[in-house]
Amino acid sequence: DPRINGIKTKIRVVPDFPKKGIMFQDITTVLLDPKAFKDTIDLFVERYRDKNISVVAGIEARGFLFGPPIALAIGAKFVPLRKPKKLPGETIFEEYELEYGNDRLEMHVGAVEAGDRALVVDDLIATGGTLCAAINLLERVGAEVVECACVIELPELKPYVQVGGDFYEDIPLRK
Ligand code: 5GP
Repeated sequence: DPRINGIKTKIRVVPDFPKKGIMFQDITTVLLDPKAFKDTIDLFVERYRDKNISVVAGIEARGFLFGPPIALAIGAKFVPLRKPKKLPGETIFEEYELEYGNDRLEMHVGAVEAGDRALVVDDLIATGGTLCAAINLLERVGAEVVECACVIELPELKPYVQVGGDFYEDIPLRK
């Protein structure tokens, strides 16, 4: 699809951010270009509009930029999966590993129900650890995770996410 190359050219790569050795993929420059932003959303909407998705779950923070327009376009509810202590209501959480230490994602109890068909949205997949935590949260409340959608994949990291199964280790963390 020719739109993909157009989107690619709008992603800014920032060396040594947030620390030395990391080539940070910056999607804020995609948002500056209305055509590239719209093409990004359209590509996802075309893929998911006939898949009976009832909930789009967006991962903090950049999943909040792409998730809501997709949810509106396909007629699904939007549920934010947030970093610790941001959600005011009762929550459940899943922990996941970072390069150093752990982090967790939280979700409001009752936002997603058994039988919901979920799409998980984030800007980028590296190791897949964040997406796996999101999948676990949704499956714990009885939702079916239909797919995960990211704008960027870091192929050299060989991301591997198995919906409904185990997360395969053997994935080099970015140094
Ligand atoms: P993973 O859990 O797959 O290893 O890392 C993915 C998470 O880290 C995503 O939530 C993503 O937003 C964030 N992330 C890691 N590296 C980058 C990057 O280079 N650019 C952006 N935009 N996000 C990143």
